[in-house]
Amino acid sequence: MLRTIAGFDRIGEENAFAVLARATELAGQGRDIINLGIGQPDFRTPDHIVEAAVKALRDGHHGYTPATGIAPLREAVSADLFKRHGVETHPDNVVIVPGGKVTMFMAILMFGQPGTEILYPDPGFPIYRSMIEFTGALPVPVPIREENDFAFSAEETLSLITDKTRLLILNSPANPTGGVTPRSEIEKLAAGLERFPDVAVLSDEIYSQMTYDGMEHVSLIGFENLRDRLILLDGWSKTYAMTGWRMGFSLWPDGLIDKARKLAVNAWSCVNAPAQYGGLAALTGPQDEVASMVAEFDARRRVIVDGLNAIDGISCRTPLGAFYAYPNIGKTGWKAKALASALLEEAGVAVIGGPDFGVLGEGYIRLSYANSTANIKAALERIERFLKTSK
Ligand code: PLP
Repeated sequence: MLRTIAGFDRIGEENAFAVLARATELAGQGRDIINLGIGQPDFRTPDHIVEAAVKALRDGHHGYTPATGIAPLREAVSADLFKRHGVETHPDNVVIVPGGKVTMFMAILMFGQPGTEILYPDPGFPIYRSMIEFTGALPVPVPIREENDFAFSAEETLSLITDKTRLLILNSPANPTGGVTPRSEIEKLAAGLERFPDVAVLSDEIYSQMTYDGMEHVSLIGFENLRDRLILLDGWSKTYAMTGWRMGFSLWPDGLIDKARKLAVNAWSCVNAPAQYGGLAALTGPQDEVASMVAEFDARRRVIVDGLNAIDGISCRTPLGAFYAYPNIGKTGWKAKALASALLEEAGVAVIGGPDFGVLGEGYIRLSYANSTANIKAALERIERFLKTSK
């Protein structure tokens, strides 16, 4: 028997990928499946980005790059952060990573070990907890509540910090809820963190450009008092419809940047060179396609929220960010995972059960509205019909 480390008995997964595999399998059997499960834009990567990557290959950019990414790209990330958040950052603090997920992997590896605690949002992106468990640290869920419109509470978050806490993970706009935490709450949290100077902060802002109804995205990099312990996670996947390119960027404080660089050297050497040139074109080129994708998500958001609220037993808050609806299904009489599974197998609609995002996920399902309005409407009809006939 090969004996790997105990972490592998605890590491988890992202069930959205299992649902995607099952949905693809059913579709392969000829079933008509509408996939509202996986969280990825259904748009094509804008042409000028694709062309820049193709050109990079033709121009001979097919070798290794510096481990933290090519200099012009790190400079473009700094410029982008300045443009969007009005904050000066140094390109030397930027690391280009193979997907935003890798930033959380690195940050959690840096701070997690037995005897330490890491705070993470629940419900939240499943990899936070999975990686925390892998390291042997104690995962401490920060409840994200419907009655709070799925924003995190500064007071509750701060109350969970102990002398063992090493890292606090924040996510706004949020997956799976679409919640966006307002400025007042983030300011309160940043002020409160003054009392805990040894707690690092990982702010997952991968949906930073997707907010609606005039809701602002407040980046944690705007808080000077946190700059020496803030790790910022953002990237191209969602904003530029580039999930399969595996490109993300991260900003590290001076005290961690060299550790991050070393992890990069040890694990992946550098991100795919032509993809980095694509990423450069994305940041420096026209942003109108980002705006039109967000406008389209906004229109679909209204359709899905209205449609869900019209179904007996379902109530859905209006999400203010990302591209997920997270309705409360408590009054349908179904358990969330059983409903998600039945909807896929019997009604041909892929969604994710709330418990896949944490213990507080019971009573909810997540629907991604990164799909056409026609498909969303058809999926809503199927869900309504299924719930009526399955009673
Ligand atoms: N963070 C959150 C909250 C996400 O929802 C996702 C993807 O679904 C990621 C990070 C990872 O993004 P990437 O595909 O760039 O690794």
